[in-house]
Amino acid sequence: MNPSAFSGAEDSSAYLTITDLSMTFRERKQEEEVLANIHLHVAKGEFVSIIGPSGSGKSTLFHLIGGLLQPTSGHIRLEGQEITGKVGHVSYMPQQHALLPWRTVRDNVILPRELAGQSRAKARKESERWLARAGLGEYARSYPHVLSGGMKQRASFIRALLSPQELLLLDEPFGSLDELTRLDMQRWLLDLWEEEKRSVLFITHSIDEALLLSDRVYVFSNKPTTILREIQVPFARPRLEELPLHPEFVALKQEIYQSMKAERASFT
Ligand code: ADP
Ligand code: MG
Repeated sequence: MNPSAFSGAEDSSAYLTITDLSMTFRERKQEEEVLANIHLHVAKGEFVSIIGPSGSGKSTLFHLIGGLLQPTSGHIRLEGQEITGKVGHVSYMPQQHALLPWRTVRDNVILPRELAGQSRAKARKESERWLARAGLGEYARSYPHVLSGGMKQRASFIRALLSPQELLLLDEPFGSLDELTRLDMQRWLLDLWEEEKRSVLFITHSIDEALLLSDRVYVFSNKPTTILREIQVPFARPRLEELPLHPEFVALKQEIYQSMKAERASFT
C-alpha cells in the first residue's frame, strides 16, 4: 500500500504534513523503534486527534514536531516549509500545565507574546478578555498555586492560544482532571475552538473525547507505531452536549474500541 495515498499526507490543502517519519531511540547500545513510517496531516483550521496505547510514541511525535528531537528519518513540513528539527514553529501545551510558579496567572499566559517581542503592557491588556473567558478574570494577579487543577489547565491552554504560532499541539491536556471537570473543559474547549478555528493536533486516551472534539482521528498501533486507522468524524458542528448518547456516536466509539482492543491483544 502506498502510505501517502492512505493518509492523504500529500494533500495540498494540508497545513502540517508529516511524511515517512521514523524514530528509533538509541541508549546504551539498546535500540527502541518507537515510530515507524508515520504519515499524517492537519489542514488549516482542522481539529485532529491522536489516540493510541500508552508508550506508542504520541508525546515523542509532539517532541519531533516541536523540533525538540531529531527524527531517525522523515519530514515534517508546515505550509510546505521543512521544520524538521527546528524549534519555534508550533505552540505546544505539555501534559502537565508547566505554569511558572513565580509569575502571576496573567504574566504566565502572556509569556509567548513577550517572547515574540510584544510589550508586557499590551500583552496584559489583551490577555484580560481571554482570562475572563476562561473564568480566571479574578485570578489574573494571583499565583498559579491558588488555582484548582482545571483552572491551571485553562490558564495553560490560554497561554498556548496566545502564542503567535497557528498550530496548537495539545498533549492529553485533560488527562489529570476528574471526570466532571474534564467534561466541563471539553465543552469549554469545544466552544472556544468553534469560534477560533485554530489548527489543533490533540493527544488523548479517550475515544469519547476524540470523537466529541475532532474533525478527524488517527488511531496509533503499538510500537513500532504505525497508523492503524484514520477516521473522518461525521458529526455536524456545533457538537451538542448529548452527542455521546447518539446511536451513531456509540457505534463509532464501539468500532474504534474494537480495533484498539484487537491491537492490544496482538501485543500481550
Ligand atoms: P506516549 O506518549 O504514547 O505514551 P512516549 O512518546 O512518551 O509515549 O514514549 C514512547 C516510547 O519512547 C517509550 O517506550 C519511551 O520509553 C520511549 N522514549 C521516549 N522518550 C525517550 C527518550 N528521550 N529517550 C529514550 N527513550 C524514550
Ligand atoms: Mg505521552
